[in-house]
Amino acid sequence: MECWKLIPKIELHAHLNGSIRDTTLLELAGGLGKGGTVVFSGVENVILKNDRSLPEVFKLFDLIHVVTTDHKTVTRITKEQVIEDFASENVVYLELRTTPKRNDSKGMSKRSYMEAVLEGIRAVGTVEVDLSRELVAETPAVNETCNRTGKKKIFVRLLLSIDRRETTEAAMETVNLALEMRRLGVVGIDLSGNPVIGEWSTFLPALEFAKMQGLPITLHCGEVPNPKEIHAMLDFLPRRIGHACCFEQEEWEKLKKSKIPVEICLTSNIITETISSVDVHHFADLYKSNHPLILCTDDVGVFSTSLSAEYALASSAFGLVKREMFQLARKAIEFIFAGDEVKQQLEEIFASAARGLD
Ligand code: 5GP
Repeated sequence: MECWKLIPKIELHAHLNGSIRDTTLLELAGGLGKGGTVVFSGVENVILKNDRSLPEVFKLFDLIHVVTTDHKTVTRITKEQVIEDFASENVVYLELRTTPKRNDSKGMSKRSYMEAVLEGIRAVGTVEVDLSRELVAETPAVNETCNRTGKKKIFVRLLLSIDRRETTEAAMETVNLALEMRRLGVVGIDLSGNPVIGEWSTFLPALEFAKMQGLPITLHCGEVPNPKEIHAMLDFLPRRIGHACCFEQEEWEKLKKSKIPVEICLTSNIITETISSVDVHHFADLYKSNHPLILCTDDVGVFSTSLSAEYALASSAFGLVKREMFQLARKAIEFIFAGDEVKQQLEEIFASAARGLD
């Protein structure tokens, strides 16, 4: 695993609330258990369960949100669990996605939720975080994954997720928030949430508006068989899609023609049984066809994985050697939502790492 940890990596599909360590969730649930808000033993069983079907995953998320959704906790999990953990994996660019949440009982609006996330990112002290274009302009370019103080450096950008349970108005509020927060590191929009809930037509007006405003969009696409929706999503021409598990021949053809990059989350797909085993995963065919793809984690906490573990799995399952895996990681630069200035800095990081590869 150590060799996969050492290569620089780009993470483009990671959900904030899916990326929390079990130990932290248990600690937070323990606190709420003492206050009588949750029954700890029930929560413990759900958190520690290893195999989870897709519907069970969404039940777990509802539970996680009960445990995490107050400003202080959102700030803490962002700082400790996500940014520091990803940086320790040698992730050099992280596009972290999260669903802005309104929670009246905690005095939380979608905006204050996002401010709590930003506070968590700014509070990171163990690694140097590059959060927005403005900060890049103030900081001299650093070509290595470590800066002059010897700290690792990670670029972090945010995607705001629209949950499929939301109304058109709520989706529009998220898009407007993303537009307002563009200068603060928000670079795009994601559509996620339980794939059997909600209609494409509900989210389309907000997604079209986002596209018109120049916000890049990624869609969770084809996690369940739904050819009509898959076709509509591909016709929308998002900048990327996630998963693409339940495609039929016609949809594969359309995808390949479109060249839309696919965020691949191997462990997530296997644990949730959207793909029966890694040997039949569509990674192999897409890779062979030279279709743009990016190896990602989805939810490192929920699926007990890491980006290095996903690289190790892909390498062993598909017979890819270190240099090929390195190229796969490097190619992801093309598909990030941040601008050319960041791409240039990432190119330099990978060029420097390539020299010490063997
Ligand atoms: P959050 O947005 O609260 O930070 O992260 C958790 C949320 O991300 C979940 O409630 C769900 O909406 C979304 N999510 C996480 N993993 C998956 C996944 O594998 N598929 C889909 N469709 N949504 C997911």
